[in-house]
Amino acid sequence: MIKGSCLCGGIKYEITGPLGTAVYCHCTMCRKFHGSAFRARVSVPKDSFRFVQGEELLTSYRSSPDTVKRFCRVCGSAMVNSWDPEPDNYGLAMGSLDDDPGVRPLCHIFVGSKAPWHEITDDLPQHREFPKR
Ligand SMILES: [Zn+2]
Ligand SMILES: [Zn+2]
Repeated sequence: MIKGSCLCGGIKYEITGPLGTAVYCHCTMCRKFHGSAFRARVSVPKDSFRFVQGEELLTSYRSSPDTVKRFCRVCGSAMVNSWDPEPDNYGLAMGSLDDDPGVRPLCHIFVGSKAPWHEITDDLPQHREFPKR
């Protein structure tokens, strides 16, 4: 069982199954949404994810035709995104995790949009856009 929550503590969630791939995303939308150099994001099967408290505090923003970002309307913490090409998974903001998820980000994506003031100093693969699958 892996737990997570928003900054104000109003929203809490639990993950009961194995997590998918984790990445660092440097795209402009993620930088704006998180107010940060990049987003750490992990795929979580919807089947193994559930809100245990405060789901009514979620609000959402459709940032592009195929993406809905959900966040706490009290404290603004990023929670889960839905992305139409992966209807069975959420994209979870790893910063909201309270436990070690066991997985580590495998690569940097959208580094073509990277903030000029941020330097990537690890040796993980870097993709200018989304890696081909
Ligand atoms: Zn909150
Ligand atoms: Zn992104």
